[in-house]
Amino acid sequence: MLKTAYRPPGEARLWESFLSRLETTLKVAHIHPATASYLTHPKRMVGLSLPVKMDDGAVRHFTAYRVIHDIARGPALGGVRFHPEVTLGQTCGMAAWMTLKAAVYNLPFGGSAGGVAVDPRSLGNRELERLSRRYVAELIELIGPDEDILAPDVGTNMRIMAWFQDTFTMNKGQTMLSAVTGKPIQVGGVAARDEGGGQGLVYVLTDLAHHYGAPIQGATVAIQGFGQVGSAVARYALKEGLKVVAVSTSKGGVYDPSGLEVSALEAHYALHGSLEGFPAQPISNAELLRLKVDYLVPAAVEGAIDAENAEEVGASVVVEGANGAITPEAETLLHYRGIHIIPDVLANGGGLVMSYLEWVQDLSMFYFDATEVQTRLREYIHASMRAVLERAEPLGGRLRDGAYALALERINEANRLRGVYP
Ligand code: GLU
Repeated sequence: MLKTAYRPPGEARLWESFLSRLETTLKVAHIHPATASYLTHPKRMVGLSLPVKMDDGAVRHFTAYRVIHDIARGPALGGVRFHPEVTLGQTCGMAAWMTLKAAVYNLPFGGSAGGVAVDPRSLGNRELERLSRRYVAELIELIGPDEDILAPDVGTNMRIMAWFQDTFTMNKGQTMLSAVTGKPIQVGGVAARDEGGGQGLVYVLTDLAHHYGAPIQGATVAIQGFGQVGSAVARYALKEGLKVVAVSTSKGGVYDPSGLEVSALEAHYALHGSLEGFPAQPISNAELLRLKVDYLVPAAVEGAIDAENAEEVGASVVVEGANGAITPEAETLLHYRGIHIIPDVLANGGGLVMSYLEWVQDLSMFYFDATEVQTRLREYIHASMRAVLERAEPLGGRLRDGAYALALERINEANRLRGVYP
């Protein structure tokens, strides 16, 4: 089956990881070959070259993509990544991740993803705006609330989502707030949105700790990555009584065995753009992975834990903050060493739940308050965790197997009911 799978040109490790995990799950889950065939062939792949007038008057072209992986369960939704290493293969992988995540969380979405190969920090503000607007303008006939919804990802933020939304609206000639999620609250964003991914991860972690009877108060956490997910994980971990002992960015990190002061850390990072100089012991990313902590949260990039460094992981549990943070080879090694894994499709679904609530809010023009958003986030997380635990049980208790089997069986059921057109 996987021999016939679509193979994108160029770097495609994330897509290959998806295929490999799909193959593993097909052995234990009840999936019709037709569903597997859908999932190994992304539904739509768009490659673009975006011309952008730079501040010095020159025109630069940026390579960009938008991929819809699958729409069996509803319109596609997926983030847009602005990062120099964006490739078609990576975008296919990210889109497949969204298909799975939406199914694990039982949300009525298929999966998509997009990206522009650019380092957004290398652009001036006006250049970034022109690039963002051109991206949406090029995709205008292919995106929308019922077709493909744009969400944030690495390198994009509320500001950019507001430009996306405005460009969509200007081109369509009518306001459709639900075409883009992750917007500022003043233009249809949902209350407390920014926190969703990290906050959700901490709720998944504490819910599972309760389930297994593991201690939460004073349990130690090391976080790799201090972006939107990593910083919110630190904040909420502290709130729930855990001890954040180490945090890092790509440039290195800091360690304090008695617990870091998270608000001071955030203030320092906001001011200097790095953790360097913060009054705590400096630590490299490799050292952070080796720390003997209860929870390690890789929340930076995919493939952070690979076959090379999996032997060195010192944590009891790894919670995947970034999509695809653990490679399939590394996962085998971690299992062998008795280290538990809370997989991305369960752990970081909080952002997607927030996008769903924003989409519903903007479709109905009935606005949720922060309390309602928080309550629903907790409900979705709890229900998904229970469903994954239940499905994992007959499979030996591994949460990744449970989550994949649950998601694939839900997608399979939708496919069965819909059939193949024409
Ligand atoms: N980039 C996000 C993810 O991978 C999209 C979901 C969201 O934040 O809306 O989960």
